[in-house]
Amino acid sequence: MTDASHASTTNPAAPLPGAGDGGPASDAGSGRPDTWASTDRGQLIDRAEVVVTSPDRNFVTMRITTVDGVTGLGDATLNGRELAVAAYLTEHVVPLLAGRDASRIEDAWQFLYRSSYWRRGPVTMAAIAAVDMALWDIKAKVAGMPLYQLLGGASRTGLMAYGHASGKELPELFDSIREHQEEGYRSIRVQTGVPGLESIYGIASNRTTAGNAGVRYDFEPAQRGAFPAMEDWDTRAYLRHVPTVFEAVRNEFGPELPLLHDGHHRMTPLQAAELGKSLEPYDLFWLEDCTPAENQEALKLVRQHTTTPLAIGEVFNTIWDFKDIIRDQLIDYVRGAVTHMGGISPLRKTMDYAAMYQIKSGFHGPTDISPVGLAAQMHLGLAIHNFGIQEYMQHGPRTNQVFRQTFTFTDGFLHPGDEPGLGVTLDVDEAGKYPYEQAYLPFNRLADGTVHDW
Ligand SMILES: [Mg+2]
Repeated sequence: MTDASHASTTNPAAPLPGAGDGGPASDAGSGRPDTWASTDRGQLIDRAEVVVTSPDRNFVTMRITTVDGVTGLGDATLNGRELAVAAYLTEHVVPLLAGRDASRIEDAWQFLYRSSYWRRGPVTMAAIAAVDMALWDIKAKVAGMPLYQLLGGASRTGLMAYGHASGKELPELFDSIREHQEEGYRSIRVQTGVPGLESIYGIASNRTTAGNAGVRYDFEPAQRGAFPAMEDWDTRAYLRHVPTVFEAVRNEFGPELPLLHDGHHRMTPLQAAELGKSLEPYDLFWLEDCTPAENQEALKLVRQHTTTPLAIGEVFNTIWDFKDIIRDQLIDYVRGAVTHMGGISPLRKTMDYAAMYQIKSGFHGPTDISPVGLAAQMHLGLAIHNFGIQEYMQHGPRTNQVFRQTFTFTDGFLHPGDEPGLGVTLDVDEAGKYPYEQAYLPFNRLADGTVHDW
């Protein structure tokens, strides 16, 4: 459903108070209005709507429309906590957008970030991200350019993408790698089962999303239902097994194929150092999220012991989360996502900062990044000099009906297309067919019952 209760506080289709007359942002209440005379009344924000839809999974999308009728889309999807962001937007952001100048993107970002007082956090930053993306979409449409042109133009002809191959056992894994190669992928993330563990992160044992029979995902961890699914974990068994898998994959597929692996925050720094060292003979493109990275100082230990490249940051929310590990050169790839980092504006700043240390992008891009967020990352990745690789899981056909897209995926390379803006259109009627469904990411317990990082 297009949940109108999660749209503007009144009628989502109605103009916001203060819009359309060139007046200031809402002056309701005792505070002074946030006045700023616009040079162009047509660029004032006329409507802001929050659309919650669940075609193959849940998505939260912000749609902003100017007085001139130009619309922009922003992704606010926070996997497993979608309605928290929808409420944040509906209750606390939509009312503040009335009559604001859509062309002042940086000002809007700073206003939403600093005026909230309570900074950072995934809910706040996903909400700000959606506004930032929507305003960039509008600006590029007004300019009549694909967004990457506004960001400086293309630095490359396409974006190398990697897909998620997995299998509980080696034959199944090899089949999955071959299937990805047949689809055009030239870089492959490899995840496998671990002997003795029933169900672990990253394995496409269930190749359809729960409740969506027929929609294949190579790995979709969020399960629909009222409680998170429980998975198993044993780090020692994992550390023994993973190097044997990469040895087998290299023997089967040769030395050229770029291979990636996700540790998904489960190791201590010493364990991560051991894994990095044991994987060095197999020349990984990167080892991702080897530790939770909440204690960033601990990554120095990992670095001292291994030359396996490290990618971290999909759960980070701000440039400040990256500040020390970039400055200390403890990572090689920034795993931030526009959707979780507060939008295109701050992720671009993060990448410019990272460029000083020869650190590249590896933006988070599984299916919980909506087609809108994915498009925003493609435009940014095409423009920046220090692009590294783009994660790309394919959305299901229902999602592609709700979000009409212009990007291409050819011979392993993504391109966002050349339509003005982000190149994504939201079909609100189609979105309305799929109401929100409660879904959670799984969690882990060790053999003795202890909750562990998932
Ligand atoms: Mg990851």
